[in-house]
Amino acid sequence: MIPTIDADRLWQSIMGIAEIGPTPEGGSCRLALTPEDAAARARFLGWCEALHLHSEQDAIGNMFLRREGTDPNSGAVAFGSHLDTVPTGGRFDGVFGVLAGLEVMRAMDDAGIRTHAPLELVNWTNEEGSRFRPAMMGSRVHAANMELESALAITDDRGITVAQALRDSGQAGPLAPSPRGWRCWLEAHIEQGPVMEAAGTDIGVVVGTMHARYFQLAVTGEPSHVGPTEMGRRRDSLAAAAEIILAVEHIALAAEPRGRASASWIENHPNARGNVSHLTRLHCDVRHTDPDGTMGMERALRDTLAEIASRRQVRIDVDPYATFGPIVFDTALGAVLRKKAQDRQLAVSDMIAAAGHDSMLIAPLCPSAMLFVPSVAGITHNPKEYSTKEQLARGAQVLLDTVLELAG
Ligand SMILES: [Zn+2]
Repeated sequence: MIPTIDADRLWQSIMGIAEIGPTPEGGSCRLALTPEDAAARARFLGWCEALHLHSEQDAIGNMFLRREGTDPNSGAVAFGSHLDTVPTGGRFDGVFGVLAGLEVMRAMDDAGIRTHAPLELVNWTNEEGSRFRPAMMGSRVHAANMELESALAITDDRGITVAQALRDSGQAGPLAPSPRGWRCWLEAHIEQGPVMEAAGTDIGVVVGTMHARYFQLAVTGEPSHVGPTEMGRRRDSLAAAAEIILAVEHIALAAEPRGRASASWIENHPNARGNVSHLTRLHCDVRHTDPDGTMGMERALRDTLAEIASRRQVRIDVDPYATFGPIVFDTALGAVLRKKAQDRQLAVSDMIAAAGHDSMLIAPLCPSAMLFVPSVAGITHNPKEYSTKEQLARGAQVLLDTVLELAG
């Protein structure tokens, strides 16, 4: 019997997770290590236990669900994604990759198949980085790209540490985070862009990712009164931040279609109605398909910051705290994904991932690849995020066929 994805079962599982942390507009809000995230993890774990998968958890909360193979000496074929969301999350980002993996396990059970290599399904902690930055924290610590102790000490906007959130949510596992000797890694994900839908593509083979630089900015001016202080004497950090936000947008517009940039977070002090602001913190990123392009965007950003700082007499501190990519995924694995999609008569094309993904951290550890399914109208990080049941099932089927090939 050829293992086959059950499209309805996959859809119902995704909708089952979407019931947890629902937003009024029909999306999901499950910030990392909140009670909602913990509840989604518990439901997922229950489904895995019903399949008798062996469950392990590490100290940063990453979940590993293992299905033994016939060869105990073989490295596992691993796959998965993340169950956490952004505040305005949809139902599919990350969730699809985890539950497509679960559906792979279920379909193997249905078909009575035991693979040669063991299989491991993974839910990474805090992929989104909305509550605790940086993003991809679980896979980052797993890959020794970040020390566990540094990650545990990071705080959210309310001062709660990752360590505390792990304890409170019951997600601090006993394992020391470290690579698990995988034979390879696969991640299925929604595209989160409009390219595949427009091109009529069913399966995107992600050949690489953009190069991205993340910046935390602090603009320091001087507190004063909104009334008496003459305009020319103000050192207004919020007005300077407004210029920065628009400058970031201009840099991105000049770099399209290969470049993108956003200012996406702001914190203002004293944020009082009678005060000229004196401290404004911003987060922004620049990204490009080509690292030289990213560096050019960064130069433009730094030049603009210097110009704004001198003209407005404010200080601007720049912390370039994270760099992602560019990652080139494993070409042999990509070829297997492409072949499996073609065998199913699906339209395939190569893609570059514009968003960050856990696979970027895993790629240096073992051969890694990603596959995309289309996102309707390219909408994502939005309650309207949508992929059809059929689009999702096709992606899960290609994942299943690929896992079977790789695990023997
Ligand atoms: Zn994601």
